[in-house]
Amino acid sequence: MNSIKCPICGSNKSSHYFSNEALTLYKCKNCGVKFQHPMPTPEALDKIYSSNYHDFYYPERVLDEQKRLFHYRLNMLERLKNGGKGNLLDIGNGKGMFLKAASERGWSYVGQEFSARAAQYVKDHLGIDTIVCNHLSEANFNPESFDIVHMSHVLEHLYNPEQTIREIYRILKPGGLFYCEVPRQSNLLNFLSNLFGKKDFGFDYKFVHLFVFSMLSLRFLLEQSGFEILSTWIEGVGSPHRYIRGVHYTSYWTHLITKIAGVFRLETLLGGGNLTIIGRKEPIT
Ligand SMILES: [Zn+2]
Repeated sequence: MNSIKCPICGSNKSSHYFSNEALTLYKCKNCGVKFQHPMPTPEALDKIYSSNYHDFYYPERVLDEQKRLFHYRLNMLERLKNGGKGNLLDIGNGKGMFLKAASERGWSYVGQEFSARAAQYVKDHLGIDTIVCNHLSEANFNPESFDIVHMSHVLEHLYNPEQTIREIYRILKPGGLFYCEVPRQSNLLNFLSNLFGKKDFGFDYKFVHLFVFSMLSLRFLLEQSGFEILSTWIEGVGSPHRYIRGVHYTSYWTHLITKIAGVFRLETLLGGGNLTIIGRKEPIT
């Protein structure tokens, strides 16, 4: 099959990687990103997002736990910011737990969400108003508005990640922090399946994920927009703060396996998990 120009790094070195009845993925040999080609239509995606999407992935029973995770994350970001609170933006705020955690810590906050259904949930349950729009730029934020922009499990859903990250850079204050987390693809099953010439039988590619990022492709996106990369890490099975009692893993057995993997530091190998990158907008010198 033909090579398609990589939507992330612009290289022409991409080739067909994987197909099933729902989607076709190409992989860029330069930056390692995998991307759907052709992309799903907005109508097809909207049909999924406007169904019970958020309820399925974030049911009531995990919300308190998710909020604890966000407190942990905000604690880390506050240390990186050298203390103090300020103004933060959560892009794709879903059921609003990051905003709730931020409010409990004394932050000023804004949420942006493209699902009107999720925004209504946040309004009804937390009394928080969310800006509903499809693209971040439609929110028309002033330049240099935020100390922190948080975007967790959103970038892989966007048609134009570069445009969004440039907009984030624009609306961050000098010295402001950008926290970005995406799902991680690699795991032991993928590794073994690729060894035997099969393509990733251990991974469930999702129609709503337009991109499957590598760490290299994330770095590329942030750096080309002007961000200084402060930190990157892989978080997988065994990361104690992620899986305190099971945002993703809910049985005692999976907790036990999580703990064992953590003790032996197997999380990188076992995965899936997540890729996280933190960038800082250069302060004015
Ligand atoms: Zn590329």
